[in-house]
Amino acid sequence: MALTFLEARATVLQRARRADPNHPHATEPLRLLQALGRVISENVLADRDYPPFARSARDGFAVHAADLPGELAIIGEVRAGQTFEGSVKSGEAVEIMTGAPVPEGADAVVMVEHTERRADRVRILQGAQPGDNVSAKGVEARQDATVVEAGERLGSAQIAALAMVGRECVEVYRKPRVAIVPTGDEIVSASERPEPFQIRNSNAFSLAAQVERAGGTPVILPIARDNYESTHWLMDRGLENDLMVLSGGVSAGKYDIVEKVLADLGAEFYFDRVRIQPGQPVVFGAARGKQFFGLPGNPASTMVTFEVFARAAVELLSGAKAAPLPLLRAKLTREFRHKPGLTRFLPANLNADGSTVTPEPWHGSGDIPALARSNAFLVAEAERESWAAGEDIRVLMR
Ligand code: AMP
Ligand code: MG
Repeated sequence: MALTFLEARATVLQRARRADPNHPHATEPLRLLQALGRVISENVLADRDYPPFARSARDGFAVHAADLPGELAIIGEVRAGQTFEGSVKSGEAVEIMTGAPVPEGADAVVMVEHTERRADRVRILQGAQPGDNVSAKGVEARQDATVVEAGERLGSAQIAALAMVGRECVEVYRKPRVAIVPTGDEIVSASERPEPFQIRNSNAFSLAAQVERAGGTPVILPIARDNYESTHWLMDRGLENDLMVLSGGVSAGKYDIVEKVLADLGAEFYFDRVRIQPGQPVVFGAARGKQFFGLPGNPASTMVTFEVFARAAVELLSGAKAAPLPLLRAKLTREFRHKPGLTRFLPANLNADGSTVTPEPWHGSGDIPALARSNAFLVAEAERESWAAGEDIRVLMR
């Protein structure tokens, strides 16, 4: 039974194993910059209020809002990194810089651009409201509030939040080990000189790159030959890892024996066919307590099926929440049609501002150069047959 694209995607999100934070070796401490791109396994709390004091958001004058408009006496100055000793009374103003604490008594800051200064007096023609240009103490985070939540992948903003609260070291999930098992009698190592009828093992490389990007550690195993013993032996090794990803051998050919070997290993299959192209015969299941994906071997099929199915499994295993597919909509620069029934993923180029997309000419699922020339996949929904130039179509970023 073939699932639709969305059914298969939902199956992965529902079935894929999550990292277990209670496993004794699930996490490790890392210094902040080493943790970039990793998934944090603890909730990190604010060590004090943020901002820690009422902070001026502008260069200007700290005032009593109720005094304005009016003319005020300047009684002093406060810069970032200092505090003003004393308090501001009605009729008074303190010159203040961005980032400085708002002096006691003052309840608003007026931008310097809206003032006229004469010696030690300042004229302000506009009115003001209490709180104008002031970030009140604790508005960004109260002491002990969570600033970075367990399961968050650490990008530059999360790293900044950790530095803000004084964390130099954080606990992150270890990366899951993802076995990559290429299959095929015609496949030779990428460093070998192939015979005219042989093909270099490019899938191990695209998969390893995709595993890295998803937060896993790729473990590239030797090429399984299209016979029972070789495939069985390599699956034995593959299933020692946290996840196993196979390429090739899942179509209907006479020597496509991946599913047979998996079945003999006691595998449960969650799906073994999805109504997509490329990648229709894609397999997802579990054996010996580990999960596996059997991805069709055509390079575009392998790449697409990893991206839309296996990637989420690697992310979940690495402790992250399931990231949404990076889908957006863009206007087609030319007409596009396909045969309905399958959701199609085709190499395409999204322009720099993300507004238009151009399908890349290509020659089927083996066309690696076309993939290398493109920066995205155009996604043609299964239900629809044609799109006119200028119409919106979905695009999967990669
Ligand atoms: P299969 O899914 O095994 O029927 O393979 C489909 C096509 O993908 C064949 O033309 C294979 O030569 C090609 N292919 C399979 N595995 C790889 C690989 N590891 N690297 C590059 N191409 C491959
Ligand atoms: Mg094959």
